[in-house]
This record gives sequence, structure tokens and C-alpha cells, in this order.
Amino acid sequence: MSKKITPALKQYLEFKEKYKDAILMFRMGDFYEMFFEDAEIASRELEIALTSRSFGKGGERAPMCGIPHHALESYLPKLVRKGYKVAICEQLEEPKPGKKVVERGVVRVITPGTYFEDESEDRFLMAIAQKGKEFEVAWAEISSGDLFYTTASWEEVKSLISKFKPKEILIPENLNERKIKTLIPEAVIEKREELFKEGALEALREFVKETQKEFVPKLKEPKEYRGWDYAYVDPQTQRNLELLEPINEKLAGATLFNVLNRTKTGMGRRLLKFWLLHPLKKVGEIEKRLSAVEELKESFLIADEIRETLSKVYDIERLLTKITSGMANPKEIASLRNSLRNLPKIKELLKNFSSPLLAQLSKELDTLEDVYCEIERVLVENPPFSPKEGGLIKEGIHPELDQLRKVKNEAEKIIKEIEERERKRTGISSLKVGYNNVFGYYIEVSKPNLHLVPKDYIRKQTLVNAERFITPELKEFEEKVLSAKERIDKIEYQLFCQLRNFISNHATRISRTAEKIALLDVLQSLAKVAVERDYVKPQVHDGYETVIEEGKHPVLEKILDEEFIPNDTELNPKDFILIITGPNMGGKSVYLRQTALLTLMAQIGSFIPAKKAKISVADRIFSRVGAADNLSRGLSTFMMEMVETANILKNATLKSLIILDEIGRGTSTYDGMSIARAVVEYISSRIGAKTLFATHYHELTELEGKVKGVKNYHAEVQEVDGHVVFTHRILPGASEKSYGVHVAEIAGLPKEVIERAREILAELEGKRNDSELPLFSAAEPKVEYRVEKVEVLPPEVERVISEIEKIEVSTTTPLEALMLLARLKESL
Ligand code: ADP
Repeated sequence: MSKKITPALKQYLEFKEKYKDAILMFRMGDFYEMFFEDAEIASRELEIALTSRSFGKGGERAPMCGIPHHALESYLPKLVRKGYKVAICEQLEEPKPGKKVVERGVVRVITPGTYFEDESEDRFLMAIAQKGKEFEVAWAEISSGDLFYTTASWEEVKSLISKFKPKEILIPENLNERKIKTLIPEAVIEKREELFKEGALEALREFVKETQKEFVPKLKEPKEYRGWDYAYVDPQTQRNLELLEPINEKLAGATLFNVLNRTKTGMGRRLLKFWLLHPLKKVGEIEKRLSAVEELKESFLIADEIRETLSKVYDIERLLTKITSGMANPKEIASLRNSLRNLPKIKELLKNFSSPLLAQLSKELDTLEDVYCEIERVLVENPPFSPKEGGLIKEGIHPELDQLRKVKNEAEKIIKEIEERERKRTGISSLKVGYNNVFGYYIEVSKPNLHLVPKDYIRKQTLVNAERFITPELKEFEEKVLSAKERIDKIEYQLFCQLRNFISNHATRISRTAEKIALLDVLQSLAKVAVERDYVKPQVHDGYETVIEEGKHPVLEKILDEEFIPNDTELNPKDFILIITGPNMGGKSVYLRQTALLTLMAQIGSFIPAKKAKISVADRIFSRVGAADNLSRGLSTFMMEMVETANILKNATLKSLIILDEIGRGTSTYDGMSIARAVVEYISSRIGAKTLFATHYHELTELEGKVKGVKNYHAEVQEVDGHVVFTHRILPGASEKSYGVHVAEIAGLPKEVIERAREILAELEGKRNDSELPLFSAAEPKVEYRVEKVEVLPPEVERVISEIEKIEVSTTTPLEALMLLARLKESL
């Protein structure tokens, strides 16, 4: 038997040829059908039944599975999250008798980087092109419309990928796919040379157009991403400090983001994430944020009112993307309207504030009243989901619409009256007029009453307990109702599309307002946390010193069941490398991370958990802690550790903050110790960065007084009633040398064992001291390193610089400028 290719199959195969790398969802009536291999993938991934279908009589049978059209939104995320692309092929016309196959077209291709309806996570699409030694990078989060571009070194590309975690990356021919895949294995990489004629930004835009076809959303104006404006937080540090994601997935809440996130809107939530990955470097900008947070914290009643109002604001950016792409339904437009409704109140509340950032917000917030009024004028308060079935446009907007509604209502009324009249005429009190899609209006009579049915009724349908009839009169009014309804639906849909276009025309203004709302939301979130957790405003400055009194780890102090023990941190030109010793579980790592986290928090403009703090702004924050998560990458732990340490030593500056936890542990004791000491010496003499170094190499404590900047601290251990107690206090001085043996003793090991251990220890130490490896003799480092630029600006100069940074040139009057100048001169 020869296999015939039917027209429908032919059409399907043509589309499939064009969209080879996508799962083709082929609309057939109320279903999206998938065939052949696509069907096998979909049935497996979506857990739906695999069947088969023949295309026409004697045609080929094809494996098939399908999903109801209204369920598309619930199935798509499952495919897209697994990295599949999906091409949506719609019917472009109603089936007509006599025509073998309806016209179809692919209206949109959904890919992991472009699926903007998925609200559960951010989906960045990135394009990378190489220009000589540099890379052009563009990336977008389509659901919010955010679009960035920058030129970057390879190191920076790596950092961007780890910050934004793109789901899909577009690259041209000359970039190595594998090189990028190793950075982010879960992303889909697409080699698309032809998109890259005009660089990465254009490639990205082309891709969005090519895939979204009929539904291209308007992206925001591209923003130049100026990496050098932000303190550099390298990928390991981002992970180690658990800024957005916990290292231990079981502790999902244990991130800095979770502690600080009291935002009320989607825009605010996204901006807070951005801030956490991008601490500021300019004191003036940080202070602006801090003083806004301070004002909101002090006026917490007004701030609470702002919160309350913000909670009624939906994710305007995502709504806008749906609106500009033409995907928004009436309910979503109503959500936008309900959000805009709150803007005047927010603006009013903002008038209470005078800190620069809030004052500027108050002045510049565009409350979009015209857009609001137009939606309010046209759309009913609670519209239905579908824009095509009427019931969404208000009375009095469109005369013909009003007229048609009247006609329809009257005809419906008459039909109701017919029911009454026919009951009387036939004496069947249970007679009723109903409606269904197949027969339209009918009169239903139950079985026992059938003998009473008059002759002029025309039988249409028999049910178990009743029969349904029509009459010419009923059909006449039905015709009136239906033709009016058809026309009404059409007009309403047109008016709806007009409204959607009207809003789209104001997209730029709306997204600017959304950005301001995001800013306000993040500031109020930081203020709320500061109030609730009793944080203080850190003093940030460009000088060298960092002094934290009674600092706490922001995440642990919140989630720990026991009381969190605060600790001080003091780093200054004399003591800038803290060597911290003490037993396992003593609190060393927590202390290290705490110092880095408090610095980072201050630099995003957040208050911090401490009694008082003066924080030197770091240009980079580095960390090298625990290696557990690197094991899976195939490099040996030690190698990985050295790669990271090398990176720190190469990139750290006098203004950086470094935390090192146990470097050198992956190798023999002497190797590790030697490396650890050399690293300390190098930081001391060549870099001058503030450094916290937790170590088990007790020998490193001998560096105090010998290597510039080194100061010893230890995690305190107390003995209480024969038990070892970790007080978690970090105190000056080295820990007791043989605390291991001491702990063993308290723990009740036999005396004999303890004594023997002490003997062995003494023997070993003796050996080391006179051995062939005089590692920690009194010798100063042999090489005299030249220290470049360790000087710190005098405080008065710093003050002048920070004053100048604070000036808002655009709002300063000439008189104010003169007075300021006089004041500055005086202070020198
Ligand atoms: P180390 O690095 O010295 O081995 P950690 O810093 O990992 O020890 O701390 C071990 C545990 O001690 C932490 O998980 C925490 O439960 C507790 N801890 C640490 N620091 C404190 C503190 N300041 N206050 C209360 N508990 C703490």
C-alpha cells in the first residue's frame, strides 16, 4: 500500500522543515498537536498520552500527542525550562466547507531566553560578539523590557554570565561554543552568525523579532552597563557570600537577598537583586541611598503607608511587555489600571521627604493620569479574560455599540417573555427556554408533558428526560440576538485593541515610572528591614579604616535559634591583615563572611546589623572559602584553590577587601603553610588590601610583629564544668597552641592518651623548629617589596572630595555654589 501524503501532513512537514530545532505545536481545532519525534518528546516531558493519527484515508499513521489550546500556558514552561524551543503554529482562518486545509502560520517561537510569560523567574537572553581582544555583550530580560550592553574583557564576560545567568546565549561563528558552555552549562547556546552583522545589541534585537514575530514586545531604551561604576564582586564571592542563592539548597531562605527583601512589587524585587550584585563605589551615591533609607526609617508611619500602597501595584513592567507585544488580555489591562490608580497617592506621600533621592523621586514621578483616565473611560471595572467575547467596554463610548446592546437586550427580553407566554398557552409549567451553541435557542419540555406540545413546535433534539423544540418566532429573535452579539464582540475587540495601542504608545513613560517605583520599593524595603532588625546607618568613606562595633552576620543573626554573639572588626593601616585562629566550629568563617557582608550591605545603601560602623568603601570584595562546591568541576580542590588565590592576588588593590578561609589545606602541611605565609607577605608588602585570614596553621600567628599589618585574633573557647564551650567571640591574640589536645582532654580522653599526645606534639614542634625547613624562624621576608601607593588621603581632603561629590549641580543656585566654595576653602 503506497503511503499518501495528505494536504494537512504536507503543510505540517513544510513548517517542520522551517523549524527543525523547535517542537512544532500545530493548531488543529481546539488542540495543539505534535507529531513524530516532537510527539515523543512532548509526551515524555509533559507526561501526556502518546497516540497516533492517520492523515486521511490510507495515509501514514504518525505518533501524535496534543494539548488543549487553553492549557498552552501551563504546558509551555515545562518545555522551555528544559531548554526546548517551541514554535506555535496557528490556524489563520476559520475552516471553510470545500477547502481541504486551512491556512496556518507560525506566529511565534518561544525559546528559553524569550519566554516572557514565565513570571516565576528572570530569563535573560544574551548576545556575545568578539571584537579583537574585547567582547561586545548585550543582554535583555524580555518580560521586564530591561536591555543592557557593554564592552568587556573575558574576565568581565564571565562575571556578567554569573550575575545574570542567561538562559540562552547567541554567539557568532568565531566564538567557541564550548568555552561558553562551561561557564553556564544550563544555558542554551545558539550559533547564529547571520544575526551579528551589526554587533551584539542588534543581534539580540533581531533574534527577538525573528522569534516573537507577531508578538514583539517593546524593550526599554538600551542602557550602557558601566561595570567600573560598581565594586567588583567576583563569581566565587557572590556564591560564597550567598547573596542570592544559598550554597546549601536546603536552606533556601539563608541568603542576603531574603533578609533584605521586603519589596512589594516585581520591579522592586528585580532591582534589589541588581543592587546586591552591584555594590556602589562612590561615597556620594552610597550616601544618597543611605539618607533616603534613613528618612524612611525615621518616618516609618509614612513609609508603612507607602508600603501598603505599593502592595497594590502590580508588576507594571511585565504588564507593559504583554501590552506592547499584543498579548495582554482585558484583565491585565485592568491590572495596569488598578496599579496606576495608586500613583497619585504615592506621589503625595513622597512630598513628606527631603533627602535628595526621595525629593527627586517625588518631583519626577510621572503619575500617568492621562493613561489611567483613558483606561478608566473605556474598560469596565472587572473585565473578562477574553477580549473577543464582549463584556469589557463601558457604556457610552461608542454609539453603535450602545445601540446594538439595546437591540440585543430587547430581543433577549422578548425571548424571556416567550417562555412565560408559552407556559400559559400550553399549560406546561416546567417548560423552559434554553440556549446552546449547536441549536441556539430552544424550548425544552419534559417527557411527561410531551402530549401537551402544540403542533407548531418543531422537534430538534431528544434527551433522556426531555425533548427540545424550536419555533419560527424563537429563531427570528435568536437571529436578532446573535447578529447583534457578533457585531458587539467585534466592536468591543476593536476598541480593546485601540486601547492597548494607546497604552503602547506611552510605553516609554510608563516604564520610566515603573523604574521609579522600583527604586522607591527597594528603599522602603531596606528601611523596613532596618526598623525591624534594628540596623544602624553605617558611615561610609573613602579612607582606609573600617571599624565595626558589635557587628552581626545579617543572615545568621536572623535564622539562628540561639542568640547571635556580636563581634568587633577593626582594620586600619597598622593592623590590616587579621590572622584568625581557633578550633573548628569556633565561629571563624562566620566572622569572615560577616565582615564582607556588612561592607557589601553598606555599599548598596543598606543599614547594617551593628552598634556602630565606619566602613571604608571597597573597590573589590574577594573571598576564598570552603572548596566543597568546586569538587564537581573536575579540577582538584587544591588546584582550584590556587587558581582563585592567584586571581585575588592579581586583582586586589589597596582599596580591596579580601577574606581567606584556610588556604593551602589541600596539600601537605609544609606546602600549605609555606604558601599561606607567602600569600600573607605578598598582601602585606605588595597590595595592602584589608584582609581577614582564618587558618589552622598556628604557625602563621608568629607573623605578628614581623610582617607589616598582621594582627592575631582567635575564636574563644571556654571550659565550663568540663565541657568545651565555643563562645563565638573573636578576640585579639593567637589561640592557645594545643587547643586540640586541650579539647580532647576536656572531652574526657584517658589521661594516658592526653599525656602521650602532648609528648608527640612537643616532639613534632621541636623537630620543626630546628629542622631543615626553618619556615617560621625570626627571618624577615627576604625580598624587599616596593609598596606602591599605600598612602591614604588626609581626612580633610577626603571630606572636601565627599562634599563635592554630594553636590547636585543641576539644582544648585549660583549663590549656594559660592557659599559652598567659601565653606570648603575654610575647612582646608
Ligand atoms: P569555624 O569557621 O571556626 O569552623 P563557623 O564560623 O563555621 O566556625 O561557625 C560554626 C557555627 O557556630 C556556625 O554555624 C554557627 O551556628 C555558630 N556561630 C558562629 N559564629 C557565631 C556567633 N557570632 N554567634 C552565634 N553563633 C555563632
